[in-house]
Amino acid sequence: SQSRFYSVPAEDKVAKFKGTKGNDGLYTVTLIEGDGIGPEISQSVKDIFAAAGAPIKWEPVDVTPRLKDGKTVIPDEAIESVTKNFVALKGPLATPVGKGHVSLNLTLRRTFNLFANVRPCKSIAGFKTPYDNVDTVLIRENTEGEYSGIEHVVVDGVVQSIKLITREASERVLRFAFQYAEDVGRRKVRAVHKATIMKMSDGLFLKTARDVSKDFPNIEFDAELLDNTCLKMVTDPTPYNDKVLVMPNLYGDILSDMCAGLIGGLGLTPSGNIGDECSIFEAVHGSAPDIAGKGLANPTALLLSSIMMLQHMGLNQHADRIQKAIFKVLAEGKTITGDLGGKAKTHEYANAVIKAL
Ligand code: NAD
Repeated sequence: SQSRFYSVPAEDKVAKFKGTKGNDGLYTVTLIEGDGIGPEISQSVKDIFAAAGAPIKWEPVDVTPRLKDGKTVIPDEAIESVTKNFVALKGPLATPVGKGHVSLNLTLRRTFNLFANVRPCKSIAGFKTPYDNVDTVLIRENTEGEYSGIEHVVVDGVVQSIKLITREASERVLRFAFQYAEDVGRRKVRAVHKATIMKMSDGLFLKTARDVSKDFPNIEFDAELLDNTCLKMVTDPTPYNDKVLVMPNLYGDILSDMCAGLIGGLGLTPSGNIGDECSIFEAVHGSAPDIAGKGLANPTALLLSSIMMLQHMGLNQHADRIQKAIFKVLAEGKTITGDLGGKAKTHEYANAVIKAL
């Protein structure tokens, strides 16, 4: 059903989720509260889930990096928790700019091989934007490309960054995209690329897309240049509503923020980082240090990410109930946060959602 952000309706897909219910009837989910506004927006999710009776037991973990054998690593407890629970909800993690800092977000994606980053953007009734019917789904390759982290100084004043594209990682995310299109009833997969310039790397991604498309005869396939996609999308996003867009890492990172702009900004856009074993759900936005600790943050993006998580776990009834309450409060527009033009504090908005359940 396209009314779901991340739809996994078929029983065989749900069976792919390996988590088990405890004796108390609850599923344990790892919670990484994150930095900046992370703890505030995580609290909203916890409060709303508790009020909605969602069968989730949170297992909070600390992912503050530690030094191990001279390398910065994620604490073992965090890795063990996600590995054991198969699913995690994550708040934003701040990445210091500059040398010597490995992004924790990247490290998490690599550690758990979360190869597909699913970023749906759906217009939200009540929040006025130039278009009121955006419904895009973008899937970003999440492990390599421009974010492979292979950079070095060639000579003083010259730096080389390597964009790595492999058939293996491309095929994995492309298969996921085609399967996703089939599962949620989207007609077409479109690969977004710059193979005109990046002839070999994007060329390999595109060739792999064409090869994989042969295994999905019910889904149409085509390709589009990234600059063309940007131009067309901001001119009229509606032709993208029946498609799944799939692309290398950097393009997906940037284009998904543009999609977020089309529906009203980063406070409203969820995402899922999906792997074969584990998945981590998180908002697209960062730690918003400018508003952290002030009770101003909009928790909707993390909430919608937690709804994607429930759907991934096959807990669709709970997902639908919470999603309906969120959309009701946003549509009424009386208790919304500052980024959406309202005056409500984070906890006031969460309480309004709880009342609307
Ligand atoms: P940001 O997304 O944190 O903030 C951009 C702007 O949007 C700010 O004005 C902020 O106040 C606003 N904003 C973001 N989320 C909001 C919300 N939920 N409610 C209301 N307003 C919101 O981007 P940034 O400032 O470029 O990055 C800050 C830090 O976050 C950096 O350290 C960056 O590396 C990190 N980051 C983390 C992730 C992640 O964990 N996945 C993603 C992006 C950025």
